[in-house]
Amino acid sequence: MRGLKTLILEKKSFGQATTASSSHMIHGGLRYLMYDRLTTQITCWDSGNILQIAQKNLIRLPIIWPVYQGHAHGIETVETLLESYDQFQPMKGGLRHLRLSKEETLSLIPGLRAEGLIGAVSFDEWWVNPVELVKKNLESARRYGAQIEEGRGLDEFILKDRRIIGLKSNGEEIHAKILINAAGPWIDEVAGLADIRIPLRLQKGTHLVYQEKLIPFGLLLQTMDQRYIFVIPSPQGTLIGPTDIATDEKPGEIKTSQEEIQYLLKTALHYLPSLPVQYDSTVVGARPILAQKGNEKLLSRGFEVLDHEKRDNLAGLITIGGGKMSDFRLMAEETANLACVKLGIKNPCRTSLETLDGEALSPSSFKRPSSILQGFLKTRPHLREAHAFSHLAFAFLKHLAHSHPKGPEFKSYYSV
Ligand SMILES: Cc1cc2nc3c(=O)[nH]c(=O)nc-3n(C[C@H](O)[C@H](O)[C@H](O)COP(=O)(O)OP(=O)(O)OC[C@H]3O[C@@H](n4cnc5c(N)ncnc54)[C@H](O)[C@@H]3O)c2cc1C
Repeated sequence: MRGLKTLILEKKSFGQATTASSSHMIHGGLRYLMYDRLTTQITCWDSGNILQIAQKNLIRLPIIWPVYQGHAHGIETVETLLESYDQFQPMKGGLRHLRLSKEETLSLIPGLRAEGLIGAVSFDEWWVNPVELVKKNLESARRYGAQIEEGRGLDEFILKDRRIIGLKSNGEEIHAKILINAAGPWIDEVAGLADIRIPLRLQKGTHLVYQEKLIPFGLLLQTMDQRYIFVIPSPQGTLIGPTDIATDEKPGEIKTSQEEIQYLLKTALHYLPSLPVQYDSTVVGARPILAQKGNEKLLSRGFEVLDHEKRDNLAGLITIGGGKMSDFRLMAEETANLACVKLGIKNPCRTSLETLDGEALSPSSFKRPSSILQGFLKTRPHLREAHAFSHLAFAFLKHLAHSHPKGPEFKSYYSV
Protein backbone atom coordinates (compact mmCIF):
# COMPACT_ATOMS: atom_id res chain seq x y z
CA MET A 1 0.00 0.00 0.00
CA ARG A 2 3.04 2.26 0.39
CA GLY A 3 4.39 1.37 -3.04
CA LEU A 4 7.06 -1.15 -1.99
CA LYS A 5 7.92 -4.31 -3.86
CA THR A 6 7.20 -6.98 -1.28
CA LEU A 7 7.68 -10.72 -0.82
CA ILE A 8 6.00 -12.62 2.02
CA LEU A 9 7.40 -16.04 2.95
CA GLU A 10 5.66 -18.56 5.23
CA LYS A 11 7.56 -21.70 6.14
CA LYS A 12 4.46 -23.87 6.73
CA SER A 13 0.83 -22.68 6.42
CA PHE A 14 -0.44 -19.13 6.81
CA GLY A 15 -2.27 -18.51 10.07
CA GLN A 16 -2.00 -22.11 11.26
CA ALA A 17 0.53 -21.57 14.06
CA THR A 18 -0.10 -19.35 17.11
CA THR A 19 -2.84 -17.41 15.34
CA ALA A 20 -5.00 -20.53 14.86
CA SER A 21 -4.42 -21.55 18.48
CA SER A 22 -5.63 -18.22 19.89
CA SER A 23 -8.93 -17.69 21.70
CA HIS A 24 -10.30 -16.24 18.43
CA MET A 25 -11.08 -12.88 19.98
CA ILE A 26 -10.40 -9.34 18.88
CA HIS A 27 -10.38 -7.96 22.38
CA GLY A 28 -8.88 -5.15 24.40
CA GLY A 29 -7.32 -7.32 27.09
CA LEU A 30 -9.61 -6.69 30.05
CA ARG A 31 -7.25 -8.25 32.56
CA TYR A 32 -4.29 -6.04 31.59
CA LEU A 33 -6.33 -3.20 33.15
CA MET A 34 -5.01 -4.49 36.48
CA TYR A 35 -1.33 -3.96 35.69
CA ASP A 36 -0.85 -2.61 32.14
CA ARG A 37 -3.74 -0.23 31.43
CA LEU A 38 -2.13 1.49 28.46
CA THR A 39 -1.79 -1.82 26.59
CA THR A 40 -5.55 -2.36 27.06
CA GLN A 41 -6.22 1.16 25.79
CA ILE A 42 -3.97 0.81 22.73
CA THR A 43 -5.38 -2.62 21.92
CA CYS A 44 -8.96 -1.34 22.22
CA TRP A 45 -8.05 1.49 19.88
CA ASP A 46 -6.57 -0.79 17.24
CA SER A 47 -9.36 -3.36 17.73
CA GLY A 48 -11.63 -0.50 16.62
CA ASN A 49 -9.59 -0.14 13.43
CA ILE A 50 -9.74 -3.91 12.88
CA LEU A 51 -13.50 -3.78 13.36
CA GLN A 52 -13.70 -1.19 10.58
CA ILE A 53 -11.43 -2.99 8.12
CA ALA A 54 -12.72 -6.52 8.74
CA GLN A 55 -16.30 -5.91 9.90
CA LYS A 56 -17.73 -8.75 7.79
CA ASN A 57 -15.45 -11.23 9.57
CA LEU A 58 -16.28 -10.24 13.14
CA ILE A 59 -19.21 -11.35 15.28
CA ARG A 60 -20.13 -9.64 18.54
CA LEU A 61 -19.47 -11.99 21.46
CA PRO A 62 -21.31 -11.10 24.68
CA ILE A 63 -19.49 -12.63 27.65
CA ILE A 64 -20.96 -13.31 31.09
CA TRP A 65 -18.71 -13.20 34.14
CA PRO A 66 -20.53 -15.03 36.95
CA VAL A 67 -19.47 -14.18 40.49
CA TYR A 68 -19.88 -16.71 43.32
CA GLN A 69 -19.72 -16.46 47.10
CA GLY A 70 -16.11 -16.62 48.24
CA HIS A 71 -14.85 -14.72 45.19
CA ALA A 72 -11.45 -13.26 46.10
CA HIS A 73 -12.49 -9.65 45.41
CA GLY A 74 -16.29 -9.61 45.29
CA ILE A 75 -18.79 -8.48 42.68
CA GLU A 76 -18.37 -4.74 43.35
CA THR A 77 -14.67 -4.97 42.48
CA VAL A 78 -15.46 -7.05 39.40
CA GLU A 79 -17.97 -4.44 38.29
CA THR A 80 -15.40 -1.69 38.92
CA LEU A 81 -13.04 -3.40 36.47
CA LEU A 82 -15.82 -3.51 33.88
CA GLU A 83 -16.67 0.14 34.52
CA SER A 84 -13.07 0.94 33.80
CA TYR A 85 -13.23 -1.13 30.62
CA ASP A 86 -16.43 0.71 29.60
CA GLN A 87 -14.32 3.84 29.05
CA PHE A 88 -12.45 2.10 26.21
CA GLN A 89 -15.34 0.06 24.78
CA PRO A 90 -16.63 2.78 22.38
CA MET A 91 -13.25 2.72 20.58
CA LYS A 92 -13.93 -0.86 19.48
CA GLY A 93 -17.69 -0.65 19.03
CA GLY A 94 -18.23 -2.37 22.39
CA LEU A 95 -21.14 -1.73 24.75
CA ARG A 96 -21.22 -0.73 28.39
CA HIS A 97 -21.36 -3.67 30.80
CA LEU A 98 -24.57 -4.93 32.40
CA ARG A 99 -25.04 -6.12 35.97
CA LEU A 100 -27.15 -9.30 36.06
CA SER A 101 -29.06 -10.85 38.94
CA LYS A 102 -28.64 -14.52 39.83
CA GLU A 103 -31.96 -15.36 38.10
CA GLU A 104 -31.07 -13.44 34.92
CA THR A 105 -27.67 -15.16 34.78
CA LEU A 106 -29.17 -18.64 35.16
CA SER A 107 -31.80 -17.98 32.50
CA LEU A 108 -29.09 -16.87 30.04
CA ILE A 109 -26.73 -19.80 30.63
CA PRO A 110 -28.79 -22.95 31.14
CA GLY A 111 -26.85 -25.52 33.17
CA LEU A 112 -24.70 -22.97 35.00
CA ARG A 113 -24.13 -23.96 38.62
CA ALA A 114 -26.65 -22.09 40.77
CA GLU A 115 -25.17 -22.93 44.17
CA GLY A 116 -23.33 -19.93 45.62
CA LEU A 117 -24.03 -17.71 42.59
CA ILE A 118 -24.41 -14.03 43.53
CA GLY A 119 -24.96 -12.59 40.07
CA ALA A 120 -22.88 -11.66 37.06
CA VAL A 121 -21.48 -8.83 35.02
CA SER A 122 -21.44 -8.86 31.22
CA PHE A 123 -19.14 -7.30 28.63
CA ASP A 124 -18.54 -7.91 24.94
CA GLU A 125 -15.68 -8.65 22.58
CA TRP A 126 -15.48 -9.66 18.89
CA TRP A 127 -15.16 -13.25 17.70
CA VAL A 128 -13.15 -13.88 14.55
CA ASN A 129 -12.04 -16.90 12.56
CA PRO A 130 -8.30 -16.08 12.78
CA VAL A 131 -7.22 -18.13 9.78
CA GLU A 132 -9.85 -16.41 7.64
CA LEU A 133 -8.60 -13.03 8.92
CA VAL A 134 -5.05 -13.90 7.83
CA LYS A 135 -6.41 -14.99 4.43
CA LYS A 136 -8.23 -11.67 3.98
CA ASN A 137 -5.03 -9.73 4.80
CA LEU A 138 -3.09 -11.78 2.28
CA GLU A 139 -5.72 -11.19 -0.41
CA SER A 140 -5.48 -7.46 0.24
CA ALA A 141 -1.65 -7.58 0.09
CA ARG A 142 -1.84 -9.57 -3.15
CA ARG A 143 -4.13 -6.95 -4.71
CA TYR A 144 -1.42 -4.37 -3.91
CA GLY A 145 1.15 -6.48 -5.72
CA ALA A 146 2.77 -8.47 -2.90
CA GLN A 147 4.26 -11.78 -3.93
CA ILE A 148 3.15 -14.42 -1.43
CA GLU A 149 4.70 -17.85 -1.03
CA GLU A 150 3.61 -20.60 1.32
CA GLY A 151 5.62 -23.69 2.27
CA ARG A 152 8.97 -21.99 1.99
CA GLY A 153 10.79 -20.06 4.68
CA LEU A 154 13.91 -18.15 5.40
CA ASP A 155 16.75 -20.67 5.77
CA GLU A 156 19.75 -18.34 5.90
CA PHE A 157 20.53 -14.62 5.74
CA ILE A 158 22.91 -13.23 3.16
CA LEU A 159 25.27 -10.86 4.96
CA LYS A 160 27.68 -8.29 3.65
CA ASP A 161 29.79 -6.64 6.35
CA ARG A 162 27.23 -5.70 9.04
CA ARG A 163 24.28 -5.50 6.62
CA ILE A 164 21.73 -8.14 5.64
CA ILE A 165 21.21 -7.92 1.91
CA GLY A 166 18.95 -10.90 1.33
CA LEU A 167 18.12 -14.45 2.26
CA LYS A 168 18.31 -18.02 1.08
CA SER A 169 15.14 -20.05 0.80
CA ASN A 170 15.05 -23.60 -0.59
CA GLY A 171 18.47 -23.02 -2.10
CA GLU A 172 17.38 -19.84 -3.92
CA GLU A 173 19.01 -16.47 -3.19
CA ILE A 174 16.61 -13.54 -2.83
CA HIS A 175 17.96 -10.01 -2.44
CA ALA A 176 16.12 -7.27 -0.53
CA LYS A 177 16.83 -3.85 0.91
CA ILE A 178 14.98 -4.62 4.15
CA LEU A 179 13.96 -7.90 5.79
CA ILE A 180 11.22 -8.04 8.39
CA ASN A 181 11.22 -10.84 10.92
CA ALA A 182 7.54 -11.37 11.83
CA ALA A 183 7.78 -15.02 12.87
CA GLY A 184 5.78 -14.79 16.14
CA PRO A 185 7.31 -17.21 18.69
CA TRP A 186 10.05 -18.08 16.16
CA ILE A 187 11.52 -14.54 16.03
CA ASP A 188 14.43 -15.56 18.26
CA GLU A 189 15.16 -18.63 16.12
CA VAL A 190 15.10 -16.48 12.96
CA ALA A 191 17.31 -13.78 14.55
CA GLY A 192 19.66 -16.56 15.66
CA LEU A 193 20.46 -17.16 11.98
CA ALA A 194 22.20 -13.75 12.12
CA ASP A 195 23.82 -14.54 15.49
CA ILE A 196 21.59 -12.18 17.44
CA ARG A 197 19.20 -13.01 20.27
CA ILE A 198 15.67 -11.82 21.03
CA PRO A 199 14.89 -13.26 24.47
CA LEU A 200 11.26 -14.35 24.69
CA ARG A 201 9.09 -15.61 27.53
CA LEU A 202 6.91 -18.13 25.79
CA GLN A 203 3.65 -18.75 27.62
CA LYS A 204 1.95 -21.91 26.43
CA GLY A 205 -1.84 -21.91 26.09
CA THR A 206 -4.17 -24.85 25.42
CA HIS A 207 -7.87 -24.86 24.56
CA LEU A 208 -10.27 -27.80 24.53
CA VAL A 209 -12.21 -27.80 21.27
CA TYR A 210 -15.83 -28.96 20.95
CA GLN A 211 -17.42 -29.03 17.50
CA GLU A 212 -20.80 -28.25 19.05
CA LYS A 213 -21.92 -24.82 20.28
CA LEU A 214 -22.42 -25.70 23.95
CA ILE A 215 -23.74 -22.42 25.39
CA PRO A 216 -25.40 -19.36 23.82
CA PHE A 217 -22.98 -16.71 25.18
CA GLY A 218 -19.36 -16.55 26.27
CA LEU A 219 -18.40 -17.23 29.87
CA LEU A 220 -15.46 -16.07 31.95
CA LEU A 221 -14.76 -18.54 34.75
CA GLN A 222 -12.46 -18.27 37.73
CA THR A 223 -10.14 -21.25 38.21
CA MET A 224 -9.06 -22.84 41.50
CA ASP A 225 -5.72 -20.98 41.28
CA GLN A 226 -7.46 -17.57 40.87
CA ARG A 227 -6.90 -17.37 37.10
CA TYR A 228 -9.62 -17.11 34.48
CA ILE A 229 -10.56 -19.21 31.47
CA PHE A 230 -13.12 -18.56 28.76
CA VAL A 231 -15.87 -20.71 27.31
CA ILE A 232 -16.25 -19.29 23.80
CA PRO A 233 -19.16 -20.37 21.62
CA SER A 234 -18.96 -19.59 17.90
CA PRO A 235 -20.17 -20.79 14.51
CA GLN A 236 -17.23 -23.25 14.64
CA GLY A 237 -18.22 -24.83 17.98
CA THR A 238 -16.85 -24.07 21.45
CA LEU A 239 -13.38 -23.35 22.83
CA ILE A 240 -12.57 -23.78 26.53
CA GLY A 241 -9.32 -22.21 27.73
CA PRO A 242 -6.66 -21.11 27.57
CA THR A 243 -4.04 -22.23 30.03
CA ASP A 244 -1.10 -19.86 30.57
CA ILE A 245 2.11 -21.69 31.48
CA ALA A 246 5.73 -20.60 31.09
CA THR A 247 7.45 -23.08 28.79
CA ASP A 248 10.92 -23.73 27.47
CA GLU A 249 9.65 -26.07 24.73
CA LYS A 250 10.58 -24.94 21.20
CA PRO A 251 7.68 -23.15 19.45
CA GLY A 252 7.22 -25.94 16.87
CA GLU A 253 7.29 -28.67 19.52
CA ILE A 254 4.83 -27.36 22.07
CA LYS A 255 2.36 -30.00 23.22
CA THR A 256 -0.73 -30.04 25.43
CA SER A 257 -0.15 -31.94 28.66
CA GLN A 258 -2.64 -34.17 30.48
CA GLU A 259 -2.45 -31.74 33.44
CA GLU A 260 -3.69 -28.90 31.23
CA ILE A 261 -6.61 -30.99 29.97
CA GLN A 262 -7.58 -31.99 33.52
CA TYR A 263 -7.25 -28.38 34.72
CA LEU A 264 -9.56 -27.05 31.98
CA LEU A 265 -12.09 -29.87 32.33
CA LYS A 266 -12.17 -29.60 36.12
CA THR A 267 -12.81 -25.85 36.02
CA ALA A 268 -15.44 -26.04 33.28
CA LEU A 269 -17.26 -28.97 34.92
CA HIS A 270 -17.31 -27.18 38.24
CA TYR A 271 -19.44 -24.40 36.70
CA LEU A 272 -21.20 -26.40 33.96
CA PRO A 273 -21.77 -29.84 35.54
CA SER A 274 -23.56 -31.26 32.48
CA LEU A 275 -20.74 -30.34 30.07
CA PRO A 276 -19.70 -33.35 27.92
CA VAL A 277 -16.42 -34.71 29.31
CA GLN A 278 -15.53 -35.89 25.82
CA TYR A 279 -14.09 -32.95 23.86
CA ASP A 280 -13.24 -33.29 20.16
CA SER A 281 -9.64 -32.11 20.12
CA THR A 282 -7.17 -29.72 21.74
CA VAL A 283 -5.22 -26.84 20.27
CA VAL A 284 -2.05 -25.33 21.70
CA GLY A 285 0.24 -22.39 20.96
CA ALA A 286 2.71 -20.09 22.69
CA ARG A 287 2.22 -16.39 23.30
CA PRO A 288 5.33 -14.68 21.94
CA ILE A 289 5.91 -12.33 24.88
CA LEU A 290 9.09 -10.26 24.85
CA ALA A 291 11.35 -10.95 27.82
CA GLN A 292 11.20 -8.10 30.32
CA LYS A 293 11.98 -7.19 33.86
CA GLY A 294 9.50 -8.02 36.60
CA ASN A 295 7.57 -11.07 37.63
CA GLU A 296 5.28 -13.26 35.52
CA LYS A 297 2.15 -11.47 36.72
CA LEU A 298 3.34 -8.10 35.39
CA LEU A 299 4.44 -9.23 31.92
CA SER A 300 3.37 -6.60 29.43
CA ARG A 301 1.56 -7.94 26.39
CA GLY A 302 2.59 -4.87 24.42
CA PHE A 303 4.66 -5.09 21.24
CA GLU A 304 7.99 -3.67 20.16
CA VAL A 305 9.54 -2.91 16.78
CA LEU A 306 13.23 -3.83 16.99
CA ASP A 307 15.63 -1.87 14.82
CA HIS A 308 18.62 -4.23 14.62
CA GLU A 309 20.76 -1.51 13.05
CA LYS A 310 20.55 0.45 16.32
CA ARG A 311 20.26 -2.52 18.68
CA ASP A 312 22.84 -4.92 17.24
CA ASN A 313 24.73 -2.89 14.66
CA LEU A 314 23.19 -5.09 11.96
CA ALA A 315 21.55 -3.10 9.14
CA GLY A 316 18.78 -4.37 6.87
CA LEU A 317 16.77 -6.27 9.52
CA ILE A 318 13.69 -5.30 11.55
CA THR A 319 11.84 -7.57 13.99
CA ILE A 320 8.31 -7.16 15.25
CA GLY A 321 7.85 -8.91 18.59
CA GLY A 322 5.21 -9.36 21.31
CA GLY A 323 1.69 -7.99 20.86
CA LYS A 324 -1.44 -9.89 19.95
CA MET A 325 -3.81 -10.56 17.10
CA SER A 326 -5.98 -7.67 18.34
CA ASP A 327 -3.34 -5.08 17.46
CA PHE A 328 -1.90 -6.75 14.35
CA ARG A 329 -2.73 -3.74 12.17
CA LEU A 330 -0.91 -1.30 14.44
CA MET A 331 2.05 -3.70 14.75
CA ALA A 332 2.26 -3.78 10.94
CA GLU A 333 1.87 0.00 10.69
CA GLU A 334 4.73 0.74 13.10
CA THR A 335 6.97 -1.90 11.51
CA ALA A 336 6.32 -0.55 8.03
CA ASN A 337 6.91 3.02 9.30
CA LEU A 338 10.44 2.07 10.33
CA ALA A 339 11.09 0.22 7.06
CA CYS A 340 9.88 3.28 5.11
CA VAL A 341 12.12 5.66 7.09
CA LYS A 342 15.10 3.44 6.24
CA LEU A 343 14.10 3.29 2.57
CA GLY A 344 13.36 7.01 2.34
CA ILE A 345 9.71 6.43 1.46
CA LYS A 346 7.29 9.12 2.59
CA ASN A 347 3.93 7.49 1.75
CA PRO A 348 1.86 7.38 4.96
CA CYS A 349 0.11 4.31 6.34
CA ARG A 350 -3.38 3.76 4.92
CA THR A 351 -4.30 0.40 6.46
CA SER A 352 -7.00 2.00 8.63
CA LEU A 353 -8.47 3.92 5.69
CA GLU A 354 -9.55 0.97 3.59
CA THR A 355 -11.31 -2.30 4.39
CA LEU A 356 -9.52 -5.56 3.63
CA ASP A 357 -11.87 -5.80 0.62
CA GLY A 358 -10.61 -2.45 -0.67
CA GLU A 359 -13.55 -0.18 0.24
CA ALA A 360 -12.66 3.36 1.41
CA LEU A 361 -13.15 4.29 5.10
CA SER A 362 -13.18 7.63 6.92
CA PRO A 363 -10.43 8.16 9.51
CA SER A 364 -11.22 6.96 13.04
CA SER A 365 -12.57 9.67 15.33
CA PHE A 366 -10.53 8.21 18.23
CA LYS A 367 -6.99 9.42 18.78
CA ARG A 368 -4.20 6.89 19.19
CA PRO A 369 -3.26 6.68 22.90
CA SER A 370 -0.04 8.41 23.94
CA SER A 371 3.14 6.83 22.56
CA ILE A 372 5.21 9.01 24.94
CA LEU A 373 3.56 7.46 27.99
CA GLN A 374 3.86 4.06 26.30
CA GLY A 375 7.62 4.49 25.86
CA PHE A 376 8.00 5.67 29.46
CA LEU A 377 6.07 2.77 31.01
CA LYS A 378 7.55 0.11 28.73
CA THR A 379 10.54 -0.65 30.91
CA ARG A 380 9.00 0.21 34.28
CA PRO A 381 6.65 -2.64 35.30
CA HIS A 382 5.94 -1.24 38.77
CA LEU A 383 4.99 2.17 37.42
CA ARG A 384 2.78 0.40 34.87
CA GLU A 385 1.06 -1.36 37.77
CA ALA A 386 0.79 1.89 39.76
CA HIS A 387 -0.70 3.66 36.71
CA ALA A 388 -3.28 0.87 36.32
CA PHE A 389 -4.02 0.75 40.04
CA SER A 390 -4.58 4.49 40.43
CA HIS A 391 -7.22 4.41 37.68
CA LEU A 392 -8.89 1.37 39.26
CA ALA A 393 -8.94 2.95 42.72
CA PHE A 394 -10.63 6.04 41.27
CA ALA A 395 -13.13 3.87 39.34
CA PHE A 396 -13.90 1.94 42.57
CA LEU A 397 -14.75 5.13 44.45
CA LYS A 398 -16.93 6.31 41.57
CA HIS A 399 -18.63 2.93 41.48
CA LEU A 400 -19.44 3.02 45.20
CA ALA A 401 -20.71 6.59 44.94
CA HIS A 402 -23.36 6.10 42.29
CA SER A 403 -26.44 3.90 42.18
CA HIS A 404 -26.72 1.22 39.55
CA PRO A 405 -29.62 1.54 37.14
CA LYS A 406 -30.69 -1.86 35.91
CA GLY A 407 -29.43 -2.52 32.40
CA PRO A 408 -31.76 -3.06 29.44
CA GLU A 409 -32.82 -6.58 28.54
CA PHE A 410 -29.67 -8.62 27.74
CA LYS A 411 -30.62 -10.20 24.40
CA SER A 412 -31.97 -7.04 22.79
CA TYR A 413 -29.10 -5.03 24.28
CA TYR A 414 -26.49 -7.19 22.55
CA SER A 415 -28.77 -7.80 19.51
CA VAL A 416 -28.49 -11.59 19.82
C1 LIG B 1 -3.53 -19.67 23.83
C2 LIG B 1 -3.46 -18.32 23.17
C3 LIG B 1 -4.60 -17.54 23.09
C4 LIG B 1 -4.53 -16.29 22.48
N1 LIG B 1 -5.69 -15.60 22.32
C5 LIG B 1 -5.67 -14.41 21.70
C6 LIG B 1 -6.89 -13.72 21.43
O1 LIG B 1 -8.00 -14.20 21.69
N2 LIG B 1 -6.79 -12.49 20.86
C7 LIG B 1 -5.59 -11.94 20.53
O2 LIG B 1 -5.58 -10.81 20.06
N3 LIG B 1 -4.42 -12.59 20.70
C8 LIG B 1 -4.43 -13.82 21.26
N4 LIG B 1 -3.28 -14.52 21.43
C9 LIG B 1 -2.04 -13.96 20.89
C10 LIG B 1 -2.00 -14.14 19.37
O3 LIG B 1 -2.49 -15.42 19.04
C11 LIG B 1 -0.59 -13.98 18.84
O4 LIG B 1 -0.02 -12.79 19.31
C12 LIG B 1 -0.60 -13.93 17.31
O5 LIG B 1 -1.41 -14.94 16.77
C13 LIG B 1 0.82 -14.05 16.78
O6 LIG B 1 0.76 -14.02 15.38
P1 LIG B 1 2.08 -14.16 14.54
O7 LIG B 1 1.72 -14.09 13.11
O8 LIG B 1 3.09 -13.22 15.07
O9 LIG B 1 2.62 -15.63 14.94
P2 LIG B 1 2.22 -17.04 14.31
O10 LIG B 1 0.75 -17.14 14.07
O11 LIG B 1 2.86 -18.07 15.16
O12 LIG B 1 2.92 -17.00 12.88
C14 LIG B 1 4.31 -17.03 12.77
C15 LIG B 1 4.61 -17.76 11.47
O13 LIG B 1 6.01 -17.67 11.19
C16 LIG B 1 6.34 -18.82 10.44
N5 LIG B 1 7.80 -19.00 10.45
C17 LIG B 1 8.59 -19.41 11.46
N6 LIG B 1 9.88 -19.46 11.06
C18 LIG B 1 9.89 -19.05 9.75
C19 LIG B 1 10.92 -18.90 8.77
N7 LIG B 1 12.20 -19.18 9.05
N8 LIG B 1 10.57 -18.47 7.55
C20 LIG B 1 9.27 -18.19 7.24
N9 LIG B 1 8.26 -18.34 8.12
C21 LIG B 1 8.57 -18.76 9.36
C22 LIG B 1 5.60 -19.94 11.18
O14 LIG B 1 5.44 -21.07 10.33
C23 LIG B 1 4.28 -19.26 11.55
O15 LIG B 1 3.25 -19.55 10.63
C24 LIG B 1 -3.31 -15.79 21.98
C25 LIG B 1 -2.16 -16.58 22.05
C26 LIG B 1 -2.24 -17.85 22.62
C27 LIG B 1 -1.02 -18.71 22.64
